[in-house]
Amino acid sequence: MSLHEETLSQIDNAAKIMDLDAEMKAYLERPQKIHQVAFPVKMDDGSVQMFDGFRVQHNNLAGPYKGGIRFAPEVDLDEVKALATWMSIKCAVVGIPLGGGKGGVTVDAKKLSQTEKERLTRAFVQAIADYIGPAQDVPAPDMYTDSQVMAWATDEYMKLKGGDQMGVFTGKPLEFGGSAGREEATAQGGVYIWNEYAQRNAIEPSKTKVIVQGFGNAGSNVARMLHNEGYLVVGISDSKGGLYCDHGIEIEQAIVCKVEYGAVNECEHAAINYNQIEEGHACKRVTNEELLEQECDLLVLSALENQITEDNASNVKAKYIFELANGPTNPNADEILSKNNVVLLPDILMNAGGVTVSYFEWVQNATNYYWQAEEVQNRLKEIMLNAFDRVESNRSKFNCSYREAAFITALERLSNLAKLRGVLS
Ligand code: NAD
Repeated sequence: MSLHEETLSQIDNAAKIMDLDAEMKAYLERPQKIHQVAFPVKMDDGSVQMFDGFRVQHNNLAGPYKGGIRFAPEVDLDEVKALATWMSIKCAVVGIPLGGGKGGVTVDAKKLSQTEKERLTRAFVQAIADYIGPAQDVPAPDMYTDSQVMAWATDEYMKLKGGDQMGVFTGKPLEFGGSAGREEATAQGGVYIWNEYAQRNAIEPSKTKVIVQGFGNAGSNVARMLHNEGYLVVGISDSKGGLYCDHGIEIEQAIVCKVEYGAVNECEHAAINYNQIEEGHACKRVTNEELLEQECDLLVLSALENQITEDNASNVKAKYIFELANGPTNPNADEILSKNNVVLLPDILMNAGGVTVSYFEWVQNATNYYWQAEEVQNRLKEIMLNAFDRVESNRSKFNCSYREAAFITALERLSNLAKLRGVLS
């Protein structure tokens, strides 16, 4: 099953449970617009390379299309369609007035110099400029794109279109139209819900061992936040491999080490009480696959899609999975985990903090008035916890999983909008 087929099967599953109108389901199964572009970029050695880029605009019932842009070697149309569909669903789960879109360029960003990355960003913006805009489609960062990339992208768009167009991209640097709290928003939104879940279920942080897969924006922030809440983070990983430390890991130290050495599995000395642990017993290096199967209570998936599948789901030892990445667990794995009583809090709910603070940034750009960090946090918490309540109540009403309940919550909102707007009549 391709990633896009997985999203369709998730919609189909929720649609059956809630008895969704067949026409509405058919309407949400297709993206409204697909833009595929090919563009040249001058490399540092003077050669010119061609790149493929995509922008998929899935649905704008609720407002302008919204969703990140990733620079990764696996990017293809199927992946971008899946991610765009999840964005429409995600914005509807949290009830913000934005639709769903996603974009990407097929490139190994780690092999680009900063100047090549800047030229690639500007060339991609030139290629898609006519399809995006503050009232039309508002991209944001995703894998291997960050606030610097958004600054170049916004600058390029404004050069092309003229005027104040700050709201065309979100996830910009604070000094250039960004919002307080955007960098950590994805992790923060998930942690607000996780804390609420933990409180309702009497989960004690100090007795809870956590493994975090992925150590980029989402992963390093969630690891730091959970560590600061008193959880014992015992495992971390990045694209080069994983590190598992029984005694726990000092996350701030691991963050510094990752910058210095470029890989978390070089960071044994970040183990808690490293100097007092018997030599050779502090930590073990594990592969990315092995890390997911290590002993822990909570597994936070914050790297990429299709990490838990039918091949490894039954080896997962965690009791709880909290998805910050998009699509890290496939539908077959969902079934296996559910049979094994693993509680899974799904991506479309848990990582919606990123798009929610992007929404705040877009509002602040439109009014040219900027909020303090505390205001951003309070508003984010309110939206995330309201969404969680709504999902919880659908979970009880339909006696289904959190993923199904989150999809139902979104599909209810989108169906109501479609009715109000007369889209299918
Ligand atoms: P990022 O580029 O900042 O970090 C990605 C991390 O994943 C890196 O540490 C990389 O080394 C690691 N990684 C790659 N392959 C891996 C593997 N096989 N095993 C373990 N680690 C691996 O990206 P990000 O923004 O943190 O995004 C991570 C996930 O979160 C993506 O699925 C993204 O779509 C999702 N997400 C991000 C945001 C956001 O605001 N950044 C919002 C919603 C969802």
